[in-house]
Amino acid sequence: MKESCGVIGVFNVRNALKVLYLSLFSLQHRGQESCGIVVSDFKKVSIHKGMGLVEEVFSELNFENSKGAFGIGHVRYSTTGCSSERNIQPFVVNYKGKTYAIAHNGNLTNSYSLRKELEDEGTLFQSTLDTEVIMHLFLKSKKENFIEKLIDALKKLQGSYALVIFTPEGIYGIKDPNGFRPLCLGKLDNGYIVSSESCTFDLVGATYIREIESGEILFINNQGLKSYCLPRKKISRCIFEFIYFARPDSKVFGRSVYVTRKKLGETLGKELPFKGDIVIPVPDSGNIAALGVARKLKIPLEMGFIRNHYVGRTFIKPLPASRELGVKIKLNVIPEVIRNKNVLVVEDSIVRGTTSTLRIKEIRKAGAKKVYMAVSCPPIKHPCFFGIDFPSKKELIASDKNSEEIRKIIGLDGLYYLSLEGMLSSISLPTEEFCTSCFTGHYPVEIIDFKGKEQFEK
Ligand code: SF4
Repeated sequence: MKESCGVIGVFNVRNALKVLYLSLFSLQHRGQESCGIVVSDFKKVSIHKGMGLVEEVFSELNFENSKGAFGIGHVRYSTTGCSSERNIQPFVVNYKGKTYAIAHNGNLTNSYSLRKELEDEGTLFQSTLDTEVIMHLFLKSKKENFIEKLIDALKKLQGSYALVIFTPEGIYGIKDPNGFRPLCLGKLDNGYIVSSESCTFDLVGATYIREIESGEILFINNQGLKSYCLPRKKISRCIFEFIYFARPDSKVFGRSVYVTRKKLGETLGKELPFKGDIVIPVPDSGNIAALGVARKLKIPLEMGFIRNHYVGRTFIKPLPASRELGVKIKLNVIPEVIRNKNVLVVEDSIVRGTTSTLRIKEIRKAGAKKVYMAVSCPPIKHPCFFGIDFPSKKELIASDKNSEEIRKIIGLDGLYYLSLEGMLSSISLPTEEFCTSCFTGHYPVEIIDFKGKEQFEK
């Protein structure tokens, strides 16, 4: 599973280019295919973009002398539109002699019909991004002023979007009315910063103010902050941000990811029908839930898997025949921790089940007596259309198999998934304000024409 993107925007800060560059580092986990920055000193706009990691793309950047005071940035993993140079964000246009740019985290679920309508009217598209649709809708709106045009365009969208928009006068931070993806506001220097996650603020020395509300349009310029509202819809925050995607040192939707992830582990520990001699997490994403499980069960937490941190994006995915080797390169087992023990492995989620199967094999080889697995979310049975790259329904192991069948396939002595109620009760936000579609199949918005919808559902 991959997160679709991370966005960042700053206004009235000392060295916007440097702040944006550092901020993108903190959001790198949300997208590793490409990244970009658009920055301005109110006179000149500079655009920096490229395919690759932040470190690679901006290695030549001289930001120490940059005078830029505001700008936006983006890290991308493609969920809509292919991975190519023309799809790198921020997406930039020149309109009536001025530069506008937009960066998007999420997925529109009606972008193809909107795109078709626009193309039928003669609009030329430069990219295959759903984000470009937003820009055209906005620029083509017949409304009088900027904010009215923006609201007019946003009202036509369905699906998920956390946006930052660059204009000659300032920046916008916008969250869709369902509030699927996180976006928060902080204070920096004499200005402000908006980011997908609050870990950015720690890195650049900003102070967290608050989460941007679902359906809020926040404009930041020389006069300060101004907030507008889109018509209300059912709030549907992505619960997976807490389970897996967001960094544990972040606050998302106004709540600490670390505290929540640990609580998910504690609830899991409370529900578990079995117990081992030791708890071992699958690093890194299972670490904090495992801490909660171990604490609840009062058994030791051991680091039985060691992760190789130098295997990343550039690692060429092994062919099925060498998949075992691929798993071993990423994670290695310490036999001294595992030998002759009843081991309780904590995973954040099971998607296809293939990697888990190989990991469990390694634990058995290392001499475990019994191997159990506890998963800190319910079975994932349905695809996501709101900005997370899930495999198709056919590839999701839980889409047509029950826990007992999955236990046998993975080769476990026991398998337990956190209940839906347990998961929702672990987060200190109203339970009805979460999206849980990948577990339940009940989608909070209509999936009108997501490209490949049929393929995802098969
Ligand atoms: S379907 Fe799952 S991953 Fe997608 S937004 Fe909803 S909770 Fe998040």
